[in-house]
This record gives sequence, structure tokens and C-alpha cells, in this order.
Amino acid sequence: MINRRELIKRLSAIPIFGAALVSPFEGTARVSHQVPRRDYFRELGVRTFINAAGTYTAMTGCLMPPEVISAINYASNQYVNLDDLQDKVGERIAQLVHCEYATVTAGAFSAITLGTAGVLTGMDPDKAAKIPNDLTGMKSEVILQKDHHIGYCHAIRNTGVNLVLVETAEELRKAINDQTAMLWFLNAHANSGKVGYEEFVAIGKEHGIPTMNDCAADVPPVENLWKYTEMGFDLVCFSGGKGIRGPQSAGLLLGRRDLIEAARLSAPPRGDTVGRGMKINKEEILGMLVALELYLDKDHKAEWKLWDEQIQLIANAASSIDGVETEIHIPDIANHVPSLKLRWDQSKVKVTPPEFRDRLTMGHPSIQTVGSEEHVGITTWMMNPGEERIVAARIKEELMSAAT
Ligand SMILES: *Cc1c(COP(=O)(O)O)cnc(C)c1O
Repeated sequence: MINRRELIKRLSAIPIFGAALVSPFEGTARVSHQVPRRDYFRELGVRTFINAAGTYTAMTGCLMPPEVISAINYASNQYVNLDDLQDKVGERIAQLVHCEYATVTAGAFSAITLGTAGVLTGMDPDKAAKIPNDLTGMKSEVILQKDHHIGYCHAIRNTGVNLVLVETAEELRKAINDQTAMLWFLNAHANSGKVGYEEFVAIGKEHGIPTMNDCAADVPPVENLWKYTEMGFDLVCFSGGKGIRGPQSAGLLLGRRDLIEAARLSAPPRGDTVGRGMKINKEEILGMLVALELYLDKDHKAEWKLWDEQIQLIANAASSIDGVETEIHIPDIANHVPSLKLRWDQSKVKVTPPEFRDRLTMGHPSIQTVGSEEHVGITTWMMNPGEERIVAARIKEELMSAAT
């Protein structure tokens, strides 16, 4: 047993109390800069790196601008009602991107699952409680093009529906039956599928079946945030933590009010739902809104010019080595930013692209890239400004050492 005096003495020796400038019970006065700075990643032995790859979940996506961090800190200090916040933020986002309604989800993947659930259930919470293993009273099929079938389609199947794959518009029309819940489109593959936007949306409208477009990685350009709802897609999904640079664990579901209200029946705080594990709290909801505001306000031309110059700087450094070939390209839809491919004559530069990428990873500072057996791929849009110079120098250094 310790007495009260002893207890107080011991408590005051605990650093968090000793270090706080104000009483921890004064709530709103607690702000993060009063906590001593710690280098958590170093303490854990987790290596940080320069992201020359792009917006990859495995690399933790993007870095949020300070205004977004500030909104997250702000939100973390006060309680609000979760639905109330989602209601207000949904209205505000809908205004910003010119659609009927919106909600913040736990990523584009979650937007796809919740949106599909909303299509299935309408405003019936009993139906939401049945998903995914009992679709009684609900439709059970979602149709998409073969070329649009990717791993992320698991987000649709999470609701218990079956995927029906078609190739042509004729096949699509034939596949529609009384079990067809939704038609799903993968924006990134808009140019490879045989059914284009207009025809796809028209077929949905003809049959009164909602259409969804997965645009997860598809800003820039900024106009895509309204282009596809205006085109007539009933639901459109974006990642929050890619080009918009919001929280990596947030996303946007945009489109028809009735469907998004229905989708929210499957979202937290409601517990007996498929979406209960896709929780986002006030911090991410507010962070997402502020990231979107910042993204819309940004000088997109100036940013593009910066990326162009950065990629050119790295390309120039690499092509100064004999035998190295550089190709600057811009993917048509997803990750639509200046991108660099490096290849070389391996009789002159004696290293394979995968080995080369390993050397960049292992070096100081560590640099992450993408690539294949044949090339190394670089983008600069997820870097901190200035890091392009370090990347250019490291690439040149490694190419030179492999060339001698
Ligand atoms: C990134 C991505 C997703 C998943 O998005 P999250 O925001 O990480 O959930 C879904 N579909 C496509 C095409 C993507 O590129």
C-alpha cells in the first residue's frame, strides 16, 4: 500500500505530467507542441525514405499539407456528433465539387463497398444488417467490363453480390436482368474497355440501374472531381490520400443524394453493418474536407510546371551517363503526372534495374522508386520540394559507379 503523498510524488515523476505546461484536465488548452518532440520512427527502427514512386498504400500514400494536419489537431480536441459532422461536411463537399451529395469514407475502397451497399439496401436498415450473407429482398449482381476487373473489385463483392463480366455493349445489355443491382466502371481503364463513358451511362439510365465510377487515383486533373457526376454516373469514388493529399485512410463517395444517404446506413456509427470496420473519425473527416478545399484552391498550372522541371532535372542527370535512355511520359488517366522511365545498355551500365532500385533503397537517404525488370520509374509529385535534387544526384552517382 502506498499513501496519498507517496502516490502524488510518484505521479509527478511521470514525464507526461512533469512536461505538461498546463493541467491535463484543462482540455482545450492541450495542444501537441507542448509534448516533447520524439523521433518515433527512429526509436522503432523504421526507416523513412524519399518517395520517388508515387501514391502507394504500401509506402503510406502521400504527405498531408500543414493545414490538413492543423485541422486534424483541431478536431482531436473536441467531441462532436459523428453523423452531424458527416451531414455538414457532406453538404459542403457536394457544393465544392458540384454534385448532389457526398460523404467521407475510409478510402476509395470503402466508398465502393458502402456505395454498393446503399444501392442494394435503399433506406432499409434491416437489409443493411443482412449484408453480405443474406441478400433476401435485394438484387445480387453487379455488371462490369472484363477489362475493368481488378483486385479492388473485392470492394464490390464485400456486399455479397456476384460480379458479371461482359465485353461489348451488346453483351452488357443482354446481361441485365431483374437481379442487376449496379453497373460498375473503372475510370483508369476507360480507354481499354469496349464500352465508353457515354454509352455505359446511357445503358444504366435506359434500364434504371445505378452506375458507379471508381476514380480512386484520378486527380489531377482537378476537373475530374465533377466531370463524372456531371456526365451522369450516379456514384463516383475517389481516394482521399492520393492526389488530393488528404488522410490516407479517407476517401470520397460523390453523387446521388438518395444513394449516398442509403450508403451511410452501412457506415459507422451503425454497428450491425458491413461498413462498421471502415471507421473514420472526426479527425479524418475534417482533414479530408480541408485537403479538398486546399486542392481545389491550388495553382494547378504552377504545380504542373514544378513537376515538369523536377522530372527534367532528374532525366538530365541520368542521361549524362553514356548508355542511359530517358523517357518522360504522362499516363492518360490514373496518376496523370509527369513520369520518368530510365533504361540503359547493360553492357555499359552493369546493373539490372531491380538491383539499381535496391541500391537506391539501401542508400542514404533511402529512395523508393517503381519499375520492372527493364526499367526504373520515377515521379516527383509525392516528394518534398528540393528532394528532386537529392534523387538526381543519387541516381547519377549509382549509374556512374555501375558504368566503371
Ligand atoms: C487506390 C485505388 C483504390 C483504393 O483506394 P483507397 O483510397 O486506398 O481505398 C481503388 N481503386 C483504384 C483504381 C485505385 O487506384
